[in-house]
Formats: sequence, C-alpha cells, structure tokens
Amino acid sequence: MYSETPLGFGAGQIPHLPNLYCDELLYSYVARIARYNGWSSPALLKHLYGKDSSIKARMSADLPIRIGAICSKFPSVPDYDPRLILHRHTLIPYHTSFLPSLAKDDIIKNLIDSDAKNGLNTIGKNIRDSYLKFCPQCNLENLNKFGESYWNRLHQLPLVDICLKHKTVLKLTEVKAFRSSYLICVDNDSCPYDARPCVSFEPGDNVNQFIEFAKYSHSLLRRPKQIEDFAELKRLRMNKLSHLNLLTSGSMIRADEFADAAQIYVGSITKYHPIFDINGRWISNLLGSEHRCNSPVYHILFDYILKGLLNDGIKITSRACWPAYKRLFSGYKWPCRNRLTCDEVRENVRIVNTSRRKGGIIVATMQCECGYSYSVSRRPDGKFNSPRYKSAGPEVEHYLCETKGRNVMRNSEKLSMSLCAYRSVLKKCKKNKPDF
Ligand SMILES: [Zn+2]
Ligand SMILES: [Zn+2]
Repeated sequence: MYSETPLGFGAGQIPHLPNLYCDELLYSYVARIARYNGWSSPALLKHLYGKDSSIKARMSADLPIRIGAICSKFPSVPDYDPRLILHRHTLIPYHTSFLPSLAKDDIIKNLIDSDAKNGLNTIGKNIRDSYLKFCPQCNLENLNKFGESYWNRLHQLPLVDICLKHKTVLKLTEVKAFRSSYLICVDNDSCPYDARPCVSFEPGDNVNQFIEFAKYSHSLLRRPKQIEDFAELKRLRMNKLSHLNLLTSGSMIRADEFADAAQIYVGSITKYHPIFDINGRWISNLLGSEHRCNSPVYHILFDYILKGLLNDGIKITSRACWPAYKRLFSGYKWPCRNRLTCDEVRENVRIVNTSRRKGGIIVATMQCECGYSYSVSRRPDGKFNSPRYKSAGPEVEHYLCETKGRNVMRNSEKLSMSLCAYRSVLKKCKKNKPDF
C-alpha cells in the first residue's frame, strides 16, 4: 500500500497537501500527508528533512526540529511560515515559556534553522509525556465535521489529563511521542475505544484542580509569557511569598507551611503525579537558579498555589490555627463512632481542631453533639488512617455511671475504643459517681 522508494520530487511538489487543522501537531500533519499520498512516513520524513541530512529521519510530536527545512517543502504561503508553524502546531511555545527572552529566541532560531539539535539541549530535558493522548469526544466531533481526526496539541501538554472543551479525562495511547520514524495517524487502531484513561479519579479528588492546571497550561500555548530575565520573575514571586508571610527573616521559603498550602491547593494533582514530591526540592529549585527548573509544570503548579493563597486572603500566622487544614476533611461525611448512646443517623460531627504532624500528616479532631470525639489523620497521599478514640463525652459517662459499666466487651466495641480506654473511662465514672 505504501511506497518505500525515495520520493522523486522537489519543493512544493507534494501532490496532495491537506489543510492544517486548528491546534494540529506538525507531527500529525506530516502523518496525514503520508497517508493522503500513500507514502510511508519514513520516506516522507527523509524527503522533508532533505536527502543529505545527517539527521535521522525521525520526528517528535511535541518538539520537532528543523522546522524550516520541513516548511521549505510546503508552498510559500503565510500558513506555512516556520515561525507560525512552530507557534501554532508544536509545544515549543509552552516548553520555552519560562525562559528569559534571549534564551527563548535562541532556542526557537535553532529549532527552525539548525541541522543540530542545539535547541533541544535546554528544553528537551523538560518533563514530557512519553505517549500521545486523545479525547474520544473530540475525535468523534472531528470525524463528523472533517471526515477524519488529528492529534491535538492541547491534549499533549505534559500532565494535562483533561480535555477542557468536553471536561472529560483524556485517554492514553501506545503511540510514542518522541523521535519516531513511523508517524501514526488518529484512527480506531491508534485511539481505541477501550484505551486507558490518563487518571481515574477517586472520591474526594478535586477535579477542579486538574481543570485549572490544564487551563494554565493551555494559556502558555496561546499567549506565551514574556520574561525579560529570571531575576525579575523570582523577585515577583518572592514579593508574593513575603506578602503571604511565607518567607523567613533570611528570605528563605517556609517550606513546611508552603507544603501545607500545596497539599490544599494542588493535593489532588500531586497525588497522581509524584514528580511534585511536595516536600521535595522542586520548590527551592524553582526559586534558585533559572537553569535548575525549566519544566513549565513546576512553574504552573507554583503559581497556582500562590494564586489560590492570595485569592483566599490567607495570611499564614501559625500552623495550628490555620483553618485551611479543615478543608482537607470537610468534603466527607464523618459519622459518630459512639453507638452506645448516640443514634447513628445523628449527623452532628464537627471538626473542632486541626494540626500538622511530621511528614505532612494532618490530624483533625472530630466531635459529635453527644460529646464523643475521635481523631483522624490524613496522609500526604490523601488517604485517611483509621480513626482513633479521643474522649467519651458526658453522655457516655452518664450512661456508664447509671449502668455500673456492665458488658465491658460489648460496650467498648460499641464505643469504638480499646478495652484499656474503656476501663479508664469506667474508673473515672466510679470516682465521679454521685453518692445517693
Ligand atoms: Zn474533547
Ligand atoms: Zn454522637
């Protein structure tokens, strides 16, 4: 079906040149050209890069190189201007968005002109997704509209798991994103119906965090940031941190407090993307030197946390009284664990206190209207440890006084407390029992 022989035609002589779609990856376009003309993609790539090129005829979906050479084989119309192609049909604007202007211009120039991979030295090490992603609904819509679908660059942004148009979770393909000589088109084989979703949400996950992250990532493609120099960016962020009371007197970031904030504002994201090791080095790297943190994912997350803190008007004064911890527990139904004197259907359990422990563990104390209280600790991965009994409360104590504490086993079970704890409550009751 495909021709493997080198293509014998010159510039502008590709017989069937389809239209480029909005936000279509250059990779996707080249794959479609091959299909439209019945050629193999390695043969087409060889033609596009030029026969004498020392470059292996391979192409990355997110960061293609030698864009100028490729575009020279297209008609000379504005749509095929290499700079325009780079800005509209690759992820390069995203990957260069937190670089100072001079460095960015240099990389872009290299990716357009040079034979070498110079441009990739800096941004090629950025965090990138290894496989292409797709939105089934987008594919269906495109199919109805154009008779075919294509790889949308908005879906390929690193760690972006959501299609913003349909608010659905993207699906993962087995199509390699880096340096392929066989370019794959979107079809039922590459984007199967039963493909694995990028993320499977669990109860309690805050989907909004994923949406905000995707929005910010998209905006970097649409309106690339202009950063004159890194020092300026750093100064801006330090100002915000200091406004939030998140800097020590020595202008260091208060890492524990910042980690708490991260937990609250991006906890659902960090749970699925362990590269954001929340107590890790990325935050200090980000505020350190421009060469230590090029990947936009870190900048996006950092700015997202800062924005959340500023919007909420939170001034961090002391850890223990920080009400924001409460939010980590407030999305759940906490039952009363006292089934001895309290009706299970009573829904009056309140979070009365929260505090932070070592290792990012947040502990909340729950108290029922009946006075019974217990504590729950939340691990950094968002899971809760089993609740621990704290105090029985007046209702229980009154009951135990009245009944003289019979049925030790059964009662302690009903009160979700250990025998030992139960006996100490009994002892207290005996001591306080009024004499009649
Ligand atoms: Zn979609
Ligand atoms: Zn209760």
